[in-house]
Amino acid sequence: MRSSFGWSTDFNRKMVSEAFWSNEIESELREQKIVYGFSGRKINCAAVKQHIETVRTSKLYDHNCSMESTSGCQFLDMMDGLWKFGHKHCAMPVKKIVDIRHINLPQVCENQPTKNSKFCLPHHGPLKNLEQAMSKEEFKSYLAQKEAAVRVVSDNLFQDEMEENAGNALTSELNCNNKNVVAPWCRKRSGRKTKESWSRGIFVYVAACGTILSYSPIYKSESLSQVLVLTLEFLYKRMQLLANHLWSKYFLCYDNMCNLCRLKALKEPLNHVLPEGYDNMFNIINKIVDGLHMSNHRREDCHVLYNPNKFSDVHPEVSRNTMAAEQTFSWLGRYRKQVNSMNKTNQHLFLHRVIIRRNWYITQCMQNGQTPVVCSLRSREERFGFT
Ligand SMILES: [Zn+2]
Ligand SMILES: [Zn+2]
Ligand SMILES: [Zn+2]
Repeated sequence: MRSSFGWSTDFNRKMVSEAFWSNEIESELREQKIVYGFSGRKINCAAVKQHIETVRTSKLYDHNCSMESTSGCQFLDMMDGLWKFGHKHCAMPVKKIVDIRHINLPQVCENQPTKNSKFCLPHHGPLKNLEQAMSKEEFKSYLAQKEAAVRVVSDNLFQDEMEENAGNALTSELNCNNKNVVAPWCRKRSGRKTKESWSRGIFVYVAACGTILSYSPIYKSESLSQVLVLTLEFLYKRMQLLANHLWSKYFLCYDNMCNLCRLKALKEPLNHVLPEGYDNMFNIINKIVDGLHMSNHRREDCHVLYNPNKFSDVHPEVSRNTMAAEQTFSWLGRYRKQVNSMNKTNQHLFLHRVIIRRNWYITQCMQNGQTPVVCSLRSREERFGFT
């Protein structure tokens, strides 16, 4: 048997993995019509995976279920975090700067760590030199200082970014302000406790029909600053697919929408970060909280401003499915074991290929008038009157 490891008589794990990735890369290049010049003879190389990742993040997934009129997916998208997936990233704190005021992004280097190191290649080299120049204790305290600086920033993330007067009416505000606005049965895992740095999860955008539109990794904590930056990026791509006069009929659903809308950053004009015509899109679109999570919001204005029934008022002809994200997650979460054992590069390629197949399946079901198989969910929508 011939493989990239030479002639061999036995069939081993590495060969299966090599064949799997080579096939996925080949299919991806062919399906997406990507022209890529390989420098070596190996198809399964890090550079091509990086290239595929760059292409993926530059656009949304194709959405052509052709059932916009019945499922309402032309006007309704959901976003939420899926905390079951994570990958190791470089442990070096790196300050990230976005040109938006009051945005406090976690300080992480998103690169994949090199073999036998906590750090990525560009950070590993200089640290190795430092390690040699310093004594063992000095080096340890140097690293501890760096890590402590990161911890302080990520602990303060949530308070820093909220509006200054957010804590005025303390008792009523507190319920929406604290981090546990999501239902307890969501059982969010609060990160792993390992020596390596792990990403927190992925943030996913799903259309009402179940087509996945985009996803991005999230680091350190579910900070609303990160969510805002990702959402503006998503909306910019999404709004290009929707005529201007329809923007006011578009709905975005998120279980923590009230706190996202209260960010200080949104009180300032965004015309220096977004192209002309798109700087006000976040204010134009409708923002709602899904029925399942609405009962956790104690503040009265949440039930007025972000009531999911608003969607049915604007689009009475379609049935509202604000549960598409939860349904998608209960399916996608089943890949947890496989996905979490991969490094960052492989993880993104794997998820990307799984999502393409899922979107194809949803499209087929929709076009043939069948209901896609989704994992069952405990629905409390009806009990709380959000039908
Ligand atoms: Zn790094
Ligand atoms: Zn659709
Ligand atoms: Zn609320």
